[in-house]
Amino acid sequence: MLCAAGLILLVFAFLSLNQLLGINDDLPMWDELYHAAGLRSQVYDGSRDGTVSVHFIDVGQGDCTLIQMGSRNILIDCGEAEEYANVAGYLKSAGVTRLDSVIMSHPHSDHMGCMYRLVHRYNASEVLMPDVPEYMLPVTGSFTKLEEVVEKMKIPLTRVKEGAVTDTGGSGELEVLSPIKPYDDLNNSSLVLKYTFGEVSFLFCGDIAEEAESDLVYIGSDLSADVIKVPHHGSETSSTRPFVNAVSPVYAVFSVGEENDYGHPHDRTLKLYRNLGAEIYRTDTNGDIVFVTDGKTIDVYTEKETSADAA
Ligand SMILES: [Zn+2]
Repeated sequence: MLCAAGLILLVFAFLSLNQLLGINDDLPMWDELYHAAGLRSQVYDGSRDGTVSVHFIDVGQGDCTLIQMGSRNILIDCGEAEEYANVAGYLKSAGVTRLDSVIMSHPHSDHMGCMYRLVHRYNASEVLMPDVPEYMLPVTGSFTKLEEVVEKMKIPLTRVKEGAVTDTGGSGELEVLSPIKPYDDLNNSSLVLKYTFGEVSFLFCGDIAEEAESDLVYIGSDLSADVIKVPHHGSETSSTRPFVNAVSPVYAVFSVGEENDYGHPHDRTLKLYRNLGAEIYRTDTNGDIVFVTDGKTIDVYTEKETSADAA
């Protein structure tokens, strides 16, 4: 009896949520997509206690990073709208049932196309995005849908800039280094985030280009990091020499689609990181790439091949 009552309540809650969201037509499709999302093979089984794992999920031409700190899950970007089933399948396989923070580096679709669906499915606690002027925000598409979902689900959508800190539940520090000022394009306005766990650090650069890179170097921001998510998919207009020197990474991760139309990553960019002695990983040749650290050492797991250096 109790079970039946519970079931009715659940159905009622689901219908109410649909009606509340005003997206009745879309929701069943999202759910179908979610349930159809096959489990993705995991390159790392998540078994090591006391470690943090940073997953660069292969979403083709786009960015998607999951940071797992014990039971806490933070997602930075998520790829295009059509990557939803892919990302949901990955999260499902990684045992993620809830997203604590969802961070949008900037509102371009290759970084946040399926974010509204993930925020809804994983009942995200908060969404963070860069503090950009209103007139620069997209007025249609995935961004508008995200605004609708967060408003109706009462999820805070917070605009942040340099100095903001995200709650990691005590597993290190996740700090916003950029934007340090308003820029007149969305790429340079990207959030640059530095995550430090013990002695190990990661730098997530969104799609920043020369202007934001130069500003970070000029103000003397502590950019040094063991692992860099290379800015703007390895474009030639990013990864300026002084910036890359300041980061001085041991590992460089390029999030790029196979044979993409933009020619990413650019040869000059690859060469720059190689010449610095960084080990290169790329989602187009390595697939999913996972870094696991205990705060001292770093282990790398990849879906395909061990390093893209041979490519
Ligand atoms: Zn991009």
